[in-house]
Amino acid sequence: MAKKDNLTEELKKHFGFDTFKGNQRAIIENVLAGNDTFVLMPTGGGKSLCYQLPSLMMQGTAIVISPLIALMKNQVDAMRNFSEEDGVAHFINSSLNKSAIDQVKDDIRSGRTKLLYVAPESLTKDENVEFLRQVNISFYAVDEAHCISEWGHDFRPEYRRIRPIINEIGKRPLIALTATATPKVQHDIQKNLGMIDASVFKSSFNRSNLYYEIRPKTANIDREIIKYIKSNEGKSGIIYCLSRKKVEEFADILKANGIKALPYHAGMDSQQRSSNQDAFLMEKADVIVATIAFGMGIDKPDVRYVIHYDIPKSLEGYYQETGRAGRDGGEGQCIAFYAYKDLQKLEKFMQGKPVAEQEIGKQLLLETAAYAETSVCRRKVLLHYFGEEYLEENCGNCDNCLNPKKKVEAKELLSAV
Ligand code: ADP
Ligand code: MG
Repeated sequence: MAKKDNLTEELKKHFGFDTFKGNQRAIIENVLAGNDTFVLMPTGGGKSLCYQLPSLMMQGTAIVISPLIALMKNQVDAMRNFSEEDGVAHFINSSLNKSAIDQVKDDIRSGRTKLLYVAPESLTKDENVEFLRQVNISFYAVDEAHCISEWGHDFRPEYRRIRPIINEIGKRPLIALTATATPKVQHDIQKNLGMIDASVFKSSFNRSNLYYEIRPKTANIDREIIKYIKSNEGKSGIIYCLSRKKVEEFADILKANGIKALPYHAGMDSQQRSSNQDAFLMEKADVIVATIAFGMGIDKPDVRYVIHYDIPKSLEGYYQETGRAGRDGGEGQCIAFYAYKDLQKLEKFMQGKPVAEQEIGKQLLLETAAYAETSVCRRKVLLHYFGEEYLEENCGNCDNCLNPKKKVEAKELLSAV
């Protein structure tokens, strides 16, 4: 079919890739046809291309709503690398001054700009709404769409205002994308964005190249991690800690042990933060010690391990964070340290919050605990969580499959409860 070849040609021309990954072609055809589109695809699956390529092929500017400044910059830089045309992609957020914003607006008016990334906070600003009402918009893309849902791992209230604002600016087709695929989150997103009838494209969430392991958290944890890093010298890794304080402390400990590590958390000043991020991306640092503020949408293909110093607050969060390993399809080791008392700490943190939020938080914690304590294949449990059935007996790439717990041990555990 001519159309088919044409799309492959466009892919090659704009991005240099020979073939589409997974569902990309079907998704892009749906967007080009002007339909609402809902995309559930794991981290690293290639979601960005699903709106980037159609935006380049369509008249007007696609509005991409994306939650983080770091993420926008990363994507706009990548688009500019692909394109010879100046101003093909832009972002508007709080980091731009007045004259930079004017430049962006000029480029959009001239028709050069095919992609405009905006944070939801900027989208809702009156002056931007006013401006966008005059723009020829091809479609809207809502990236990291799980931010709409309280059941997602990164709820952002501003995301709830996207639909009303879109109505104000002017209705156009919508594509929503996320790597968080629990049925609850999916329903929330579709309802909130008014796209219940959208075509849904769901890929498998299995990342067969990722190895999952849970280790008991003991007083030895620092030494254990240092040893691990040293035995993986020269490889890139991310270490997630719960608190900013721990991030700072542990980054210092690693440095003191001769490891090229840098901290990253939302409490650092933004310049330091982005310079640490860049150092990690450019491999001037091997290890980034971070809170969950780090990593969303950041495209470093060769992260070889993700370590959770503290157990995450939800399995979705865990899946997202571990998903940053092995994006190139190569090895990715995901090791989380678990102690029951950490869960109790997390529960305590929630105490000041509204009751409904606490209930959600507790439910998510219970699911994480069940995952950490299970002797069943971790991949099976994770995929089940995403509504997917994993049929293999033995995944061959998690601690429980590689070292099955002895039956006696399980019994002893039970009687100890
Ligand atoms: P996601 O947003 O789903 O986590 P990204 O959009 O960041 O994933 O893409 C992940 C990686 O896959 C990027 O390095 C991107 O350039 C690459 N990629 C996307 N589509 C293709 C393709 N068709 N062929 C080869 N690489 C691709
Ligand atoms: Mg993405």
